[in-house]
Amino acid sequence: MRNYNPTQRILITGGAGFLGSHLCDRLLEQGHDVLCVDNFFTGTKQNVAHLLDHPRFELMRHDVTFPLFVEVDQIYNLACPASPIHYQHDPVQTTKTSVHGAINMLGLAKRLRAKIFQASTSEVYGDPAVHPQVESYWGNVNPIGIRSCYDEGKRCAETLFFDYHRQHALRIKVARIFNTYGPRMHPNDGRVVSNFIVQALKGEDITIFGQGQQTRSFCYASDLIEGFLRLMATGPEVTGPINLGNPGEFTIRQLAELVIELTGSKSKLVFLPLPSDDPMQRKPDITLAQTHLGWEPVVQLRQGLVQTIAYFDKLLGAETP
Ligand code: NAD
Ligand code: UDP
Ligand code: UDP
Repeated sequence: MRNYNPTQRILITGGAGFLGSHLCDRLLEQGHDVLCVDNFFTGTKQNVAHLLDHPRFELMRHDVTFPLFVEVDQIYNLACPASPIHYQHDPVQTTKTSVHGAINMLGLAKRLRAKIFQASTSEVYGDPAVHPQVESYWGNVNPIGIRSCYDEGKRCAETLFFDYHRQHALRIKVARIFNTYGPRMHPNDGRVVSNFIVQALKGEDITIFGQGQQTRSFCYASDLIEGFLRLMATGPEVTGPINLGNPGEFTIRQLAELVIELTGSKSKLVFLPLPSDDPMQRKPDITLAQTHLGWEPVVQLRQGLVQTIAYFDKLLGAETP
């Protein structure tokens, strides 16, 4: 009789990014084999440098818009730039990454009969008219704006996941991720938490877009990754889409003030024009995640910011000659 081996071979696309690298850590800790695939567009080798000598870790440079032939048991599809300045840098490539990337990873999952997870986003709700956002809400998305390459790419990826599920009986897990922050965000990534912390630590002006009255809900990375693992572990009856995020809602101005308080910075607030199609409000309804996954975030914003500030403080300290 063969020994039962619970070790899974797990592919993480976008594994050298902010969230992907934390997921690599957690899956290796659980004893799995991890294949990290990344084209290093926004991710870095540095994020997984501590894993390069790990016997169960493998790193492959590859762009998911091209086919990929590997042998794995599970796939987490995270490849896609997530910050507006990055996904708007080459919008055509962003749509290709979401759409062609999803087709290739779904084709791979179909051949292997592997379970596949999609990192979708609260952006599928656009500038939401329903608040807080529930999964049954179809969203309010501009199809031709500067955010559309990301929003519509992710929406089309969800469509593909559900069509492969219906047409090919694929086991899919679609998570709609709300704004998440933590160590290993890129310091020049352009997202609000990393921007404000880096500006505060350097004593530079804190750049608030608009009047700072727009809201976001911020989830700490470790909480989110726990949600990923719980979703992947569910039976075939759970496909998602399922919201993963922290329901605590803050205005951008409140976030700026909290970062100033926690860093003790003398930075001033400056107000810049609001980018077009910037959603005015965002807050997840996480009832489904609570019911199906027994999951909810445990790290409060203040606590998570303290840890993220410590990370950037060390990083910036190391950069200064
Ligand atoms: P990130 O930019 O740090 O990570 C994305 C990774 O994907 C990077 O390592 C990048 O190099 C890689 N990548 C991009 N295009 C690729 C391609 N064509 N082929 C292979 N690799 C490619 O961002 P993140 O915050 O870690 O986001 C990870 C995933 O989660 C993304 O799909 C993002 O859309 C989703 N998401 C994140 C958030 C958040 O707040 N962090 C919110 C919603 C959704
Ligand atoms: N694909 C891949 N790896 C695989 C199997 C498929 O990258 O192991 C790609 C393949 O190149 C194709 C896509 O996934 O473009 C979709 O595959 P599917 O089998 O669904 O469609 P088809 O090959 O019939 O177009
Ligand atoms: N934002 C800001 N200053 C910055 C970066 C972002 O005021 O330096 C605002 C941005 O306009 C948006 C919110 O913060 O309203 C969150 O922006 P982010 O790019 O982090 O994520 P997303 O808009 O995709 O939620």
